[in-house]
Amino acid sequence: MVLSFVKTPEEISSSAICPIFASRYVQDPLPRYRIPENSIPKEVAYQIIHDELQLDGNPRLNLASFVTTWMEPECDKLMIESMNKNYVDLDEYPITTELQNRCVNIIANLLNAPLASNKQAVGVGTVGSSEAIMLAGLAFKKKWQNKRKAEGKPFDKPNIVTGANVQVCWEKFARYFDVELKEVKLSEGYYVMDPKKAVEMVDENTICVAAILGSTLTGEFEDVKLLNDLLAEKNGRTGWATPIHVDAASGGFVAPFLYPELEWDFRLPLVKSINVSGHKYGLVYAGIGWVIWRTKEDLPEELIFHINYLGADQPTFTLNFSKGSSQIVAQYYQFLRLGFEGYRRVIQNCMENAKLLQHNLKQTGRFDIISKEKGLPLVAFTFKDKNKSLAFELSKALRHHGWILPAYTMPANVDHIAVLRVVVREDLGRQLIEKLFSHISSALFELSETANSVRKILLTVEVKAGNDHDKGSLHLPTTSIHLKQDKYDRDRKKVHEVGGKTTGAC
Ligand SMILES: *Cc1c(COP(=O)(O)O)cnc(C)c1O
Repeated sequence: MVLSFVKTPEEISSSAICPIFASRYVQDPLPRYRIPENSIPKEVAYQIIHDELQLDGNPRLNLASFVTTWMEPECDKLMIESMNKNYVDLDEYPITTELQNRCVNIIANLLNAPLASNKQAVGVGTVGSSEAIMLAGLAFKKKWQNKRKAEGKPFDKPNIVTGANVQVCWEKFARYFDVELKEVKLSEGYYVMDPKKAVEMVDENTICVAAILGSTLTGEFEDVKLLNDLLAEKNGRTGWATPIHVDAASGGFVAPFLYPELEWDFRLPLVKSINVSGHKYGLVYAGIGWVIWRTKEDLPEELIFHINYLGADQPTFTLNFSKGSSQIVAQYYQFLRLGFEGYRRVIQNCMENAKLLQHNLKQTGRFDIISKEKGLPLVAFTFKDKNKSLAFELSKALRHHGWILPAYTMPANVDHIAVLRVVVREDLGRQLIEKLFSHISSALFELSETANSVRKILLTVEVKAGNDHDKGSLHLPTTSIHLKQDKYDRDRKKVHEVGGKTTGAC
């Protein structure tokens, strides 16, 4: 969570909550940063919080996030029904535990884990891919350390090789657990880890190479098969046994349905563990991820804790302890409800909507598309014009229509490039894509209008200054641009007000 800072005594004593409709019931303001002196009726508490939350963005218009924002009402109902069960009380809630076991089996199967007897996969549900990656990273680190100790070699400088495009959780893992992150640099036009360079960076201290199936920045899949082959060759030559982890946070629920022939998972012998976010294309609300190990030998025994004070002996591997059960139930609901065919249709539909948006953006002639044909259902694009601020201005302009469409600079080495990214989720339907594109078009028009006006002013100033040094000449054009700006703001406000209703209905 974001770090919250405690307020000063002055701020605390001067801040109050001013209820809107709840003012019918509450006369005195309530303190904002202290616990109120007395209780209030439940309806009033509800109304106050409900009203405040109205000012959050609309999750549906949040194009920045991969995380699921819509589920069926039947599943919402199941989630509410299981909200009061603590997932860690395995013995008290054996059915919930059974549902997690079924999910692990279903996912291991989708990821082509080998089924040879006594060599089956193991896995666990987590809060998300970040926790999953911490657990997978710890397993690699311990395994490597144990091997080095047994060989009488130093074991104090472990490293992981990744691309510079890794998600922040890898940097977090590296810093929290004292592992060096050796990043393969990106280059212009190539925004994922180059397997050849990655394998060159592997040394005897490398605990794993982490490949990404579905780069967060561009949606592109890394070539895990090539990585596996090059690494196998190097392992053969050096006698090391450097393994691969695949961070399939987004791609793990895309590739099995859209590209079943693509070899990136446990079909490749060096892939020892894979993480996937249930709350991304697994189609569950925020709060669930999965990590699967190829066999139980890939998960050192000393990391497993056996708890028995809640009932029978249960092996666990998790960073936290208590947690709600709703997300597990919801994941199982989606598997049961949608089946392979249902997932395939949902993801296919996302892909088609992404293609439509991509086609329209291309037609404007203003953008280069940097997401790939085969990858996640998203559109990542840059302005052809190299001016980096354009992407940020477009992002800001779209905010006025309620859209959250992030612009960001690429990592070191290619940080002169600013990218815009639209993640296409199940709930971003065709009508919304069309509306989004019409807002992008009008924002583009407005941006170029503003740019033209600024150019005109500069020209006028230059001409006037050249003629008679009359600084007052600045006056006229700035007024006209202010007028324009006023009209622009008014129009935007109008569109926004209307947009709020229409987009909600789409
Ligand atoms: C989203 C993402 C993560 C982090 O996943 P959470 O489930 O949000 O913790 C890690 N890696 C990649 C590639 C991602 O896209």
